[in-house]
Amino acid sequence: MQSGIGDEVELKRFGIPLVQHLPGVGQSFQDHFVIFGCIWEYRQPTVIPNAARAVLSWKSHPRLDTPNIQIAQSDGGTIRSEMNELGLPANSWWSLAPGGVRPQSRGSLRLTGRGPRDPIQIEANMLSHPEDLEAAIASVELCRDVADSDALRPFNKRELMAGNLKGVELENFIRQRAVTYCHQTSTAKMGRDSMSVVDGRLKVYGVSNLRIADGSIMPRVTSGNTMAPCVVIGERAAELIKLEHAV
Ligand SMILES: Cc1cc2nc3c(=O)[nH]c(=O)nc-3n(C[C@H](O)[C@H](O)[C@H](O)COP(=O)(O)OP(=O)(O)OC[C@H]3O[C@@H](n4cnc5c(N)ncnc54)[C@H](O)[C@@H]3O)c2cc1C
Repeated sequence: MQSGIGDEVELKRFGIPLVQHLPGVGQSFQDHFVIFGCIWEYRQPTVIPNAARAVLSWKSHPRLDTPNIQIAQSDGGTIRSEMNELGLPANSWWSLAPGGVRPQSRGSLRLTGRGPRDPIQIEANMLSHPEDLEAAIASVELCRDVADSDALRPFNKRELMAGNLKGVELENFIRQRAVTYCHQTSTAKMGRDSMSVVDGRLKVYGVSNLRIADGSIMPRVTSGNTMAPCVVIGERAAELIKLEHAV
């Protein structure tokens, strides 16, 4: 956008000379969300497992074609300090971090100025779509089911969070604790509609000799973590450039 490629109105706000009007630049933002977290006190203090040693992909509804929930064993966010405040040492509790990986919500990026040091304004719009909230609720409930399974119940003295919250209380718990999974994508999406920024060969519409090869070209965020798909996008870009220039 600061180079003059983006929505004309947005660029005009900062007096940036227009190179190519592309209204999709900075739009269609998607990310995964993670909720810190669901926590249980051990019956007996025990060895602390590594974070994310166990990860679970699951569907909140059988009609879905791919998992939309990702749950990781994790003690991130503010959990450690919260447990410290309760006087619970690190080996006395364990935690699952529920989350969503097939969001319907879309956000956007906006400029705050025309200089490269002007920070970007990120409107993540996380959990703005009702289906995302449903998935978030299902992911918290699934964590509770896992912890209450025959295999794990014997290890638990008591549930510390989320507890048996319902309705608005559960929604508030989720909204207060949901944060980015750091998997931001889709703000220069590939496609053919008016909000698309690159074509199937990663070329920016209306600008010659410019390709994009990163997470921003994903039409929607992948249902798994984003690092490996970004590597694939990079590899594909290299192939396309080699083909075009016969190298
Ligand atoms: C804290 C954290 C943890 C993560 N953990 C995982 C994980 O466990 N598993 C997983 O799959 N994914 C993980 N991710 C996500 C993953 O790292 C990203 O999805 C992926 O790296 C994005 O790749 P990218 O090429 O789109 O962008 P980036 O990797 O961000 O690459 C962008 C590059 O562009 C450079 N750059 C920026 N501006 C300019 C400029 N003006 N001129 C020149 N260069 C510029 C940057 O320095 C950077 O090197 C994590 C992300 C974060 C932040």
